Amino acid sequence: MLRDAVRSLAEAKIAPHAAAVDEEARFPREALDALTANDLHAVHVPEEYGGAGADALATVIVIEEVARVCASSSLIPAVNKLGSLPVILSGSEELKKKYMAPLAKGEGMFSYCLSEPDAGSDAAGMKTKAVRDGDFWVLNGVKRWITNAGESEFYTVMAVTDPTKRSKGISAFVVEKSDEGVSFGAPEKKLGIKGSPTREVYLDNVRIPADRMIGAEGTGFATAMKTLDHTRITIAAQALGIAQGALDYAKGYVRERKQFGKPIADFQGIQFMLADMAMKIEAARQLTYAAAAKSERGDSDLTFQGAAAKCFASDVAMEVTTDAVQLLGGYGYTRDYPVERMMRDAKITQIYEGTNQVQRIVMARNLP
Ligand SMILES: Cc1cc2nc3c(=O)[nH]c(=O)nc-3n(C[C@H](O)[C@H](O)[C@H](O)COP(=O)(O)OP(=O)(O)OC[C@H]3O[C@@H](n4cnc5c(N)ncnc54)[C@H](O)[C@@H]3O)c2cc1C
Repeated sequence: MLRDAVRSLAEAKIAPHAAAVDEEARFPREALDALTANDLHAVHVPEEYGGAGADALATVIVIEEVARVCASSSLIPAVNKLGSLPVILSGSEELKKKYMAPLAKGEGMFSYCLSEPDAGSDAAGMKTKAVRDGDFWVLNGVKRWITNAGESEFYTVMAVTDPTKRSKGISAFVVEKSDEGVSFGAPEKKLGIKGSPTREVYLDNVRIPADRMIGAEGTGFATAMKTLDHTRITIAAQALGIAQGALDYAKGYVRERKQFGKPIADFQGIQFMLADMAMKIEAARQLTYAAAAKSERGDSDLTFQGAAAKCFASDVAMEVTTDAVQLLGGYGYTRDYPVERMMRDAKITQIYEGTNQVQRIVMARNLP
């Protein structure tokens, strides 16, 4: 029922704008409005904080169905989870009450600020600093590649509070867009997910109350990594949705397109491609849903499964979308058809929330 409801909404309210959002590289406002009106913009927020209380699998299905028509729009529910999960996992009760309610009501989105210009895969090498000053912390630094920066009201920011301790000297904070000293860089000009703004976040003497720290001092990096264990599954879901969207489009196309006097779908070479695409998508789906169940239960092998789902599903998305372009021939290579956008959008799923090389490092360290 949830899938049907999200699919109908996505096809009616999000799909019609997907090409323009990509072409104009603009934020998908229509998608945000439609998702918010239907309580689908941040479904993971627990009911006790005014949210829809969706479990990890339901959240995955929402993201998958939105990504099937518009990957940029699927970053609304996905990044709202990524940005706010540190608060849900490790924040004080007061912090949860203060920030989950506006997120659930659609009054402000959440972003996640871990990466920096010189700290990507090696995120613990970050330089952004937070220095205690009485009842306040003062933050200085640059966060890079922040999804929905400028659009979000709330930002989970990881910063160094003790430079002698590397990852154990990093703490997490909630920073608000309206805090004095917060500003944003120009939107990155990207290959894909052009509707999702990616900008730098500048923190220039941002003075925030001490109770905005998420969890205890020095636990920020652990919280950031624990968050990714759960949210990499949402990237797997996004990849899955993009791949399914490409397969669905290509499937329809090959039945209509005629060459050599018959629909190209009648050629076994085409049928085998479609079969492989569907097989890979189904394998990715099973891995992703199993990982979502593990996320919900908090199973001890979640770290391996989350990384495996993200890595596998994103590689499948890249292969399937490339094959979809192939199935449309020259037409697939143009922006008159959606599959080239899907191929460009698929690429990012192999890169963010840890590149697929990093996922393999994570899996190797946590072999079952
Ligand atoms: C569109 C977009 C949105 C993003 N959104 C966010 C966000 O909202 N919040 C956030 O915090 N970050 C975000 N990121 C950052 C993203 O997570 C990083 O780009 C990613 O982790 C890689 O870091 P890097 O770009 O610095 O690459 P690098 O770490 O410099 O890596 C370069 C290459 O080296 C490889 N490599 C690095 N180390 C190793 C190793 N030990 N072994 C093998 N290979 C290795 C990498 O896999 C990669 O292929 C986003 C990025 C993009 C592009």
